Formats: sequence, structure tokens, C-alpha cells
Amino acid sequence: MAHTVLLLLFVICGLTSTVGPTVEPAEMLLRAAGEGQLSLDPWEVAAAAVDFGGVARAEPLAVMRPGGAGDVARLVRAAYRSARWFPVSARGHGHSTNGQALAPGGVVVQMSRGRIAPRPMPAYSASTGEYYVDVWGGDLWVDVLNWTLANGGLAPKSWTDYLYLSVGGTLSNAGISGQAFHHGPQISDVYELDVVTGKGELITCSEEQNSELFHGVLGGLGQFGIITRARIALETAPHRVRWIRVLYSDFAAFTRDQELLVSLHGAHRSESFDYVEGFVIVDEGLVNNWRSSFFFSPKNPVKRSSVHANAGLLYCLEMTKNYDDSAADSIDEVVEALLGQLGYIPASVFTTDLPYVDFLDRVHKAEMRLRAKGLWAVPHPWLNLFVPASRIADFDRGVFRGILGNKSSGPILIYPMNKHKWDDRSSVVTPHEDMFYLVAFLRSALPDSGDPTQSLEYLSRQNKKILDFCDDAGIEIKQYLPVHRSRAEWARHFGPKWGRFLRRKAQFDPKCMLATGQAILPPPPSSSSSFVFRW
Ligand code: FAD
Repeated sequence: MAHTVLLLLFVICGLTSTVGPTVEPAEMLLRAAGEGQLSLDPWEVAAAAVDFGGVARAEPLAVMRPGGAGDVARLVRAAYRSARWFPVSARGHGHSTNGQALAPGGVVVQMSRGRIAPRPMPAYSASTGEYYVDVWGGDLWVDVLNWTLANGGLAPKSWTDYLYLSVGGTLSNAGISGQAFHHGPQISDVYELDVVTGKGELITCSEEQNSELFHGVLGGLGQFGIITRARIALETAPHRVRWIRVLYSDFAAFTRDQELLVSLHGAHRSESFDYVEGFVIVDEGLVNNWRSSFFFSPKNPVKRSSVHANAGLLYCLEMTKNYDDSAADSIDEVVEALLGQLGYIPASVFTTDLPYVDFLDRVHKAEMRLRAKGLWAVPHPWLNLFVPASRIADFDRGVFRGILGNKSSGPILIYPMNKHKWDDRSSVVTPHEDMFYLVAFLRSALPDSGDPTQSLEYLSRQNKKILDFCDDAGIEIKQYLPVHRSRAEWARHFGPKWGRFLRRKAQFDPKCMLATGQAILPPPPSSSSSFVFRW
């Protein structure tokens, strides 16, 4: 305790010298820390100054590891009441790519490292007839999975491809993967939240209770509050997964089949796949890209020519069918019937079988491999777009077959989703069509490769070209994990939802202190806080 108090006095001195001599009474910040820990440790501060993207940097003054929701509330309340303005940002696992969780000159609340009480057990709700689990906002999805599996053989319904992301971090965006056509994004599978607003109030919200806050926070980019608890919908976890990839050289056939498969969301479970994604294979290397290790080992690479004689783009459709031991005898038949509806290149079926958990955790294996080669902690100029289904062929012609010019520098995901599975009351913005695609350019810059087309500058310029192309061609895309820099750009991003966004901001974070790394609304003119530096 003496150690904590000493540490806090340092922080207070730091805040005083940073934000001016009229900072609030020392006791206020001392109370703010509660059981949590405010740290000035240079290592922790440096770690909270960057993120996975590696293109933005801003040092906070301090990092807080909260012991619970009360600590978060006390800290935010102290900041709200402070005579001088400073930002407070929740940081989940820091896997943003553009400084979204940074808090220049303020406090980063390190949600994924808090000292948290034991997790509650999964429970059954008689009113919904469904299982659920209450989790801490900073919990990683991989830990939620392990917990629910170990306690009842249950699992969340909707996923991201990568599980080392925090619950609060993905719910602040949407949380999508190949199950979204069926269950909606992760924000569609949440029953209730505890949220600390920008005024420091700890509020429980749901569709029925404080619904404006509930819908605002889901997909809300951290703008209206810090999620400290989420009640997540669960289902019985399947045991195994049949994972299939097939290839196309014809984009129209590829998208026709993808759209057919996601339109089967309402069908009986045996008549639809459980997961549908896809990716674009621009260059030879990507047949064997880092997301493919379960299929194609480096020792046994798949040659493009072995599946199709012509040069040019290939499109890979990826599907899974979940099953239990009791259905093991019929899985071949079920999958064959589903594949029979599709028009892929006949010789291009790749199949593997694995436990459900290994499938969900598939990207972690690739992460380990890239880390070992020093290729994980490199700049990631990612671009994620929602493209209306009616314009996806134009996008293919202009971007995949045009701007990319035979080089992709990382996986390019493409898969459709059903708009009616997204709740329009949430803050997230999607195109105005019943079906839209995620197109994700998950690229890595390799500044020391000697290849100018792998530099950060080149890839960033190419991202801009893609956005300009969509503008010029009138393709009304929306960015997922959006990056905009001016108020006008954000107003355009939110479109008709902009007025509601501003009203919610005024109600829940009137001092614009939260998640300022998103750069949506500027800090008040009187603040002396520094800005995020972006390369
Ligand atoms: P952070 O980067 O720490 O924070 C992101 C934003 O959310 C910040 O503005 C932060 O202030 C805010 N925030 C964080 N925690 C909270 C909280 N508790 N309450 C309120 N606001 C909060 N996304 C998908 O949808 N599907 C995928 O398949 C997918 N795969 C990915 C794979 C990798 C390797 C990476 C790096 C990212 C991937 N993402 C994916 C993107 C990811 O969902 C977002 O970047 C997400 O924000 C990261 O979560 P995080 O916990 O690291 O959040």
C-alpha cells in the first residue's frame, strides 16, 4: 500500500507539471486509484505508447491496472472533475493499428492486465432459454473460451479470427469472423454490459435498461464509456470441425457461391455451413500464406499451376462444418451435399479435420511462426472495408485486378455478411444494402526487405489509392476499424448516424476525454495535451 501511495504521488506531480498547477486535490487521484495500480514504470508507459499497427506513437503519463470496475470509475470521475483536461483511454490488448487506444499525456487503463476477481460460472437464463457468461471487459476471448469450455462445454457463438483480443476491444468495433452471417457480429451476441461513462458513473445497461448507452457503446469505438463487464451469449460447443477450402478463378462464380452460402443462415443446421470466409490469392506466395499453415506446409507448398493452368488471380472460399462424435458417420455426406451446390475448380478441394478449439485458435499458430521469424512486430498498414455486394465486382476489377498489381504483402480476406444480423441501433456503420462484404487488407510492411513495394510508404499510398478509387467509382464503402482524421471525414463516415453520435457523446462523455486516439472530436482548446504522432 505504501508503495502504491508513493507511486501515486509521482503521478500527481506528473499530472500537475503536465496539465498545470491547478490540478485537482491530491486526495482525489489517490482515491481514484483504489485497489488498482497507477504505474509510471518506463517499460509500461513505453508499451502503452504504441500498438500492433506500429505506425502511431504517443506516451501516456501513467498506466493504470484496475482491480475492478470501481477503480475505473474512480479514475474517470477524477479526470472528469479535474480542473484541467487529460485523456483516459481503455486499452484491451493494444491490437489496434492506428493509435486508437493511446492517451497522449493522460492515463491508459490497461484492461487486460487488471487484478480481477474469479470469473463467474456460465449460467442459464430461463427467460431467454440460453446460456450466458459474465466476463471482465479486459478478458481475452481465448480465456473466455477456455473458461466456458471447462465449465459446461459451452462457447460464445460469434468470433473473431484471432482470439488474443479483448472483449471490450472487439465490442467497441463489432467483432467479426465467418460465423457473422449466422449469428451476427459479436456485438449482436451480448445481453448486458457494465459501463463506466465519461462522467465516471458505473452503469448497467441492456436493451431494456439504459438502452441508449448499451447501443451506443456497442461498436462505439470507446467513445461513450469503458466496458467493465459483458454478458456474452453461449451455445454448446461442438467437438470437431471439418474445414474446407476450394478455389475459383472466376470472381463471379466465387461471389455467387459465397452469397448463396450466407443466404442459408436460416436453414436447418445440417443444410448450411457454420462458417464462411474467403481470400484473394494475388501472388504465388499467398497460396501458402500465414493463414494457411493447417493446409499447406512450407515443406509441401501448393503450386498455383497444380490447381489451375492460367496465371492470374485465384479466390479461395473457406467453410467449416461443426460436428460431434455422434455425427461423425454422416459428416462426409452432409459436406458433400453442401459442396455439390458450388461451382469451384474441381481439382481444388482441400480438407482437414480438427478439434473446434484448434480451429478457433488457428491464427495463434501463425502468430507464433511469424514471431519466431521476427515478422510479427513490424508495421501493419491494414485497411478494412465494408463493400456493398452490388459493387463487389467493380471492386474486384479496380482493386484486386488493378491497383494491387500482382503484389499483396499479406492476406486479403473477403466474405459477405447479412445486414439484418446487425442491429442498426448500435454505433457501428455498415453499407445500405442487405448484403455487404468485408474486404480486409492485412498487410505487413518490411522496411528492411530492400523491396520498395513492401515499404510502409508504398503500402500506405496504395491504401489511399484504394479509397480514392472507391470514391471516384461511387462505391459507397464504409471502413471497419475506421481511420479518419477530420471531423468532416467522421461526419461522412457516420452519415445519418452522426447526429445521434454527437448527442450520445454530449450525454456520456461531455468532456471528450475517452479514447481520444480515435481522433473523432478534438480535445477542448484549453487542453495542453500532446497529440498522437503518426508516421
Ligand atoms: P485495443 O486496440 O486495445 O482498443 C481498441 C479500441 O477500443 C480503443 O479505442 C480502445 O480505447 C477501445 N477499448 C478497448 N477496451 C475497451 C473497453 N473495455 N471499453 C471500451 N473501449 C475499449 N477484428 C475483427 O472484428 N475480426 C477479426 O478476425 C480480427 N482479427 C484480428 C487479428 C489480429 C492479428 C489483429 C491485430 C486484429 C484483429 N482484429 C479483428 C481487429 C481487432 O478486433 C481490433 O483491433 C480490436 O480493437 C482489438 O482489440 P484490443 O483488445 O486489442 O483493443
